[in-house]
This record gives sequence, structure tokens and C-alpha cells, in this order.
Amino acid sequence: MAEIDDRIRVRGARIHNLKNVDTELPRDALVAFTGVSGSGKSSLAFGTLYAESQHRYLESVAPYARRLLQQLPAPEVDGITGMPPAVALAQPRSAPSVRSTVGTLTTLSNTLRMLLSRAGDYPPGAEHLDSDSFSPNTVAGACPLCHGEGVEHEVTEDSLVPDPSLSIAGGAVASWPGAWQGKNLRDILDTLGYDIHKPWRELPQGERDWILFTDEQPVVTVHPVREAGRVHRPYQGKYSSARRLVLKAYASSASETRRRKAAEFMVDRTCPECGGRRLRQESLRVTFAGYAITELAAMPLTELAAVLRPWKETAGAAGALAAEITARVEVLEELGLGYLSADRPAPTLSTGEFQRIRLATQLGAGLFGVVYVLDEPSAGLHPADCEALSGILRRLRDGGNTVCFVEHDLDIVRGADWIVDVGPDAGEHGGRVLYSGPVAGLRDVPESVTRRYLFQNILPATPGLPERPAHTPRGALELRGVTGNNLRDLDVDVPLGVFTAVTGVSGSGKSTLLAKIAEHAADRATGPGRVVWVSQQPIGRTPRSNLATYTGLFDTVRKLFAATDDARAFGYGPGRFSFNVVGGRCQNCEGEGFVSVELLFLPTTYAPCPACGGSRYDEDTLRVRYRGLTVADVLAMSVEEAAGFFTEEPSVSRALETLAGVGLGYLRLGQPATELSGGEAQRIKLATELQRRKVADTVYLLDEPTTGLHAHDTDVLMGRLWELVGAGATVVAAEHDMRVVATADHVIDLGPGGGSAGGRIVARGTPARVATAPESRTGTYLKELL
Ligand code: ADP
Ligand code: ADP
Ligand code: ZN
Ligand code: ZN
Repeated sequence: MAEIDDRIRVRGARIHNLKNVDTELPRDALVAFTGVSGSGKSSLAFGTLYAESQHRYLESVAPYARRLLQQLPAPEVDGITGMPPAVALAQPRSAPSVRSTVGTLTTLSNTLRMLLSRAGDYPPGAEHLDSDSFSPNTVAGACPLCHGEGVEHEVTEDSLVPDPSLSIAGGAVASWPGAWQGKNLRDILDTLGYDIHKPWRELPQGERDWILFTDEQPVVTVHPVREAGRVHRPYQGKYSSARRLVLKAYASSASETRRRKAAEFMVDRTCPECGGRRLRQESLRVTFAGYAITELAAMPLTELAAVLRPWKETAGAAGALAAEITARVEVLEELGLGYLSADRPAPTLSTGEFQRIRLATQLGAGLFGVVYVLDEPSAGLHPADCEALSGILRRLRDGGNTVCFVEHDLDIVRGADWIVDVGPDAGEHGGRVLYSGPVAGLRDVPESVTRRYLFQNILPATPGLPERPAHTPRGALELRGVTGNNLRDLDVDVPLGVFTAVTGVSGSGKSTLLAKIAEHAADRATGPGRVVWVSQQPIGRTPRSNLATYTGLFDTVRKLFAATDDARAFGYGPGRFSFNVVGGRCQNCEGEGFVSVELLFLPTTYAPCPACGGSRYDEDTLRVRYRGLTVADVLAMSVEEAAGFFTEEPSVSRALETLAGVGLGYLRLGQPATELSGGEAQRIKLATELQRRKVADTVYLLDEPTTGLHAHDTDVLMGRLWELVGAGATVVAAEHDMRVVATADHVIDLGPGGGSAGGRIVARGTPARVATAPESRTGTYLKELL
């Protein structure tokens, strides 16, 4: 009898830089994928394992769509056996939908609605409502005035007449359409006896109100004024107020441009009917434990659980639903998310918070026999929270699942059952599995970069020592009475000319403080001058922007192509080599290189454009070669390759070398902005900054710059940041990696907890000083390293 195979076996994986990889993983285990940035971890975990599972799933649920499926790129792998169904908890490089909230992501919103519907206190005589009536997204629940939006779009005199010194004839009513329509309205007012030549502000208020807001639509006979000697014939003109015209354009215009234009003349104000709470009055009057559903949804989850906990033991619906909500919230609290509220919009969450919410939700779903694939579950987590995270991952495994995760946090990696180390380096120099086995065995693999960090504590090289700052501050930014989110009337001094790490558990207020520092530093009166926020926001929102366009490098490349003999013979200018404008780009995909494939019931997927094969250009453009390469070939080169190729173009090669210097040598020039991780985007921006000459007197702010970085890449990045400090800049970074914090000049530790339990300064000073601060949770972890 054949033995049951308890291994997942991968043969011949070749996607991206993977070099025909064969490997085996145990099932029902915690499997960590490690390696430097660009080594191929995600290509193996997501691009191969998850993609293959997804492909099989699509084939099984949608046989009718087989023909469509053939257009999708199949995972480049010879075979995978023993693979259970896979669930990706946060696909790297994807964003949550705009409409969702913490409550909808966790399904807590549904349970809260049921609680109010079945167990709420109703006003005397009121009818019981079904749970839909507590959702602003249903007709039954939505406030009738704002349709559940919570805001009302209105026009005001200020929004319609931005410059009251103008006369009506001079264009005071800015929202009026141009050309004939505007002249028509002006002539009607003239006919009606209004003074169209007086400055707007000198007209009586009553007249101004009528012109802007009246609901009347008088019809008058207009005798148009003579213009340039031409006599116009009289006609019947109907007046409509400016408000009426704007609201009509906003509500009914089919053209998105016209709608947007109309919106410019409107202001949002809180809906007077529901006070921004989005629900109809009948629903808002129902309470549980004295709170309306909107109040329960606005509480930090920790507080919500505290309100509901006493009800757990009661009989009936109230008891069961309260128990369900508290159990779910407890998992979220364990993952360090108790400071979030159910009504928090998903787009304001960090990717780390988002992924941990999905993780908690999966735990509640109680699936077994599944492969979970996670991208850096520790992102955004303080080491104190990482211990709880490890616990949660173990619970998923013990429930009978395989948990695969790409991870850099050394403590979490050490706690894995199995490690797959990919490398040794990035891009072309990576793509091999150096080791796949129990963690301890990696010790015997000399080629592994991960090995160096996993088995000993190496700190990044710094100009100073942890107990003695390398740089002497040149004064400080003195922030007084800082208030925002959970920061209340905080006084902080941020030393200038040194490297400061802002620490604290998730939700303690680090990002909020950075934003306040940015405001203060940029203030002309008090601040030191230039502030550069090196964020993790994408460098572009569409696949049309990429590294080459963002850095300006592509302009030079296009000029080089236009200067070739071929291009001159064909009459092609630089624009011909752009994929953003009509000309040389592929007409089928309009220069995107891929087309979307719509499968019934399934999320949109993308396939390479069949016309250009993904090259983005038409055939004629690709006939032009610069030193043997087409423009598509150039976009396909990695930064490192391109730096070698463009040695004769100093401006291009300098830009490329700076990018390689922040550890991005493996990125392809044409890699779409939408495929880059937040950390990669951040390092591209940093590289752009590093090329500027004026860095002294600049304050650089970075939010968790080491997210997504292997310890080795962190060391490379820190080298660059120290160079900035050395050149006189101030660097302030929110940071969780204790290796980095241990080498900072100055530490500001926020806390002690998240949300309302945080927002205070727990400790500050040198790393050595913070390490001994009794109340500091950061101190505990820092001490281990110093
Ligand atoms: P890691 O997860 O270890 O950081 P990746 O698997 O993301 O590495 O990338 C490995 C290599 O594959 C890199 O050289 C990267 O530039 C390349 N790569 C990543 N995504 C794509 C893609 N969509 N198309 C082509 N190459 C890619
Ligand atoms: P950290 O960066 O330390 O994780 P944040 O500054 O992001 O902490 O958050 C501090 C507090 O402010 C938390 O209670 C968080 O929920 C709240 N907060 C942060 N951003 C927003 C936002 N966009 N809307 C509402 N609350 C927010
Ligand atoms: Zn309303
Ligand atoms: Zn195409």
C-alpha cells in the first residue's frame, strides 16, 4: 500500500528569477521563507505555491471558463504534489477595497447588527427592526437625506463666488458654464433688472441669495447685447439658479469630468438629519447596554469587549451574540489590534494591520487542511506583539493547517518548524533554495546570508556606539502641546542633526507623532526648513508608472533611442518610445503590456497582452535598437544590468547606482509601480533624495523603513541613512527592529499601550538609557541586544 505523502513537493519552479527549483515542505507545520530582498521568496511562496493552488481551484470551479483560463499565465513549474488548497492572507502589493471597514473585514459588523436587531432596547411602541436596518448600505437602514453617506454635498455663496470683487459680467459666479450658456444667464439677469456690472459684494444680500439659490425658474424675453457689430435676435430665456445647475450637473451628468467639475463648487458638510451617523432615526434610537450601534462601532475594540463581557452569561440571543463578539475581539487584541474600532475605514489601515485582521478572521473560521500563505506577518509589530503573533500562527498550525510565511523578523523565523532559505543574493544572483529543513540545520550552510544573522546578534555598523551617540545634536525641534489621534497635549523635543528612532507598540502613536513633526518642521516660522517624508505610499497608482518614469531616467533613455540612425530615418522622436501616449505603444493594451480577463464570479485577473506579448510597444517601434537593444529590452533590464549597460551616460548610470546602493539592484526598470512593495517604493524615494545635493538642514521622516527588509538589507539601508546624518541631515524613523533602535543616537519610546492606553512618552534618551527605563516595553527587548 502506498504510504500517504505528508510532504508538499515542488519540482522545476521557474517563475521570475527562480532557477528550476526543487524543494519539499512538511505539512501541518510553520514554514518560514527567508532571503534578502529580491532573492525570490515571494516568487516561491506566492508566485508558485499559492498561484498553482489558485489555478487548480479555478479549473475545478469554473470548467466553463477553461478557454479564458488558458490566457492566464500558468505558474511556471513542472509540478507540485501533496498541495492542499491555499489561502493567501494578504497578497503582497494589493490594497483593500475603499468601502470596507474593520467591522466588515472581521464580520463583527454583522454580529453587532444582529445584536441590536434581536436583543436591543427599543423605544416604547417601536417595531422590531431586522438587522439590515442597522446597515447604512441598505435602503432599510440608510438615512433618507444623505443616503447613508453621512455627508451632504451643498453649495454656499463662498463656494460659488470665490472672488466677490468681480461683477456678474466679469465672471463672479464661477460655477456658471462658459460660452453661450454663461452669457445667456448673464443676459437674463440683466433683463430681470440686476446690476451685472457692480462688484458682487456690493449687491444687496437678498439679490445675491436669489441669484444663487432660488428655486424659481422665470422665463423672460432676452434682447441680447450687440457684440462686435452683430445684432442678435431676441429669444425666450429660462433662468436657473447657480445651485440648481451645480446640483443637476453633479447628480445627472454622465461625464465624469463634468461631475468632478461640479464637485469643485460644492462643500461637504455633516448630514443634518443623521449627524454623520449614516443611519435612519428609527435605527439610531435602538440601543444595547445604553449605546446606539454607531457608538458601539466607534469604540476601541477593547472597550467594546468590556461593555459586552457582562452579557456573555445571559440567556438567549444577547448572551450568544455577546460571547461571539468578545471571543473575536480577544483574538484581535492578542494580535495587538485592540485599539482599532469597528468603524475604522480599511484604507486608513497599514498593510500589517490589514493582514493581521484577516489572520484573526481566519482563526475564527476554523478551517483545517489548508495552506495559509502570509507576507511578513510581523510588519508593523513591536517585538512585544510578535510573541502573541507566534502564538496565533501556532494555533493555526495546531488546527491542522500548513502556515507558510515570508518573514524577516529573526525571532519569528527562529520559532518556525521549517525554513526555506532562498538566495544567496537578489535577482539573477538568487533564485536558488539554499536550504530547506529544520531551522537549526541552516547553521551548516555557509552560502546563506540569513545564517549570519539568525545564529548571532550582529548590529548594523554605525559611526558611534550605543551608549555614546556619534553625533551631537544641533539644538532641537521643540514641539509643545501636540494633540492628534491618541496624542494629548504632548511635549516632545526632537534633536536636530542626529538619528532618532521612535518606538512603541502598534497603535501607540508613532505615525501620528511623525506627522506632527512634519507639520512643525515645515512651519516657516519655527521649523528648520525642508521636510522630506519618505513614505511607503506607491510611487504611482497605475501600472503606467514605474521606476524608470518616476526617477526621470526614462526621459534620457527615450532621447537616446530617438537619436539613433534608425529612429531618425523613420522620423521617430522621443515621444515614439513612450508607452503613455499614442504613437509607438501597442494599441491593443494601450501600452500597459497586459489585459484584464473577466471570469464570472471571480476577481479580475490579468494576462499578458496577446498583441505585443507584454512588450507594450508596436512592431515598428521595436525595430529601432540602441546598441542592440529595443526599448522594451531596456525596460526589462534590472537596475544592476542597466547600470552596466549605460556606463557612457553618466546621469543615467549615477541614478542607477544610487538605486543599487539602497539595495534595489534587482528591480526591473519597467516593473509597474503597482507591483512594488511599500518598502521598495520607500527606498526608491530615498534613492531619489540621496541624489540631491542639499541634505544639511533637511529633516527626513521615515515610517518603518525596514519593513520587508532582510537583516542584511537593513544594514545596507542604515548605511545610507547614516550618510545623510553625516552630511548634516536629521533623520527620524518609526521603527520596530531592535537592531536598528539599538544603534540610534536618540530614542523616543511611546506607549505604554496602543490607542487610548498609549500616546505618552514612556522613555527617551540614548538606547542604553531607554533599555533601563522600568516602564518601557521596548527597553526589555533593547536590553537583550546591548
Ligand atoms: P523577494 O520576495 O525575495 O523579495 P521576489 O520573489 O519578489 O523576491 O523577486 C525575485 C526576483 O523576481 C526579483 O529579481 C524581481 O525583480 C523579479 N520579479 C518579481 N516580480 C516580477 C514580475 N512580476 N515579473 C518579472 N520579474 C519579477
Ligand atoms: P502607530 O504608528 O504607533 O502604530 P498610530 O499613530 O498609527 O500608531 O495610531 C495611534 C492611534 O491613532 C491609534 O489609536 C489609531 O487607531 C489612531 N489612528 C491612527 N490613524 C487614524 C485614522 N486615520 N483615523 C482614526 N484613527 C486613527
Ligand atoms: Zn444622513
Ligand atoms: Zn499590447
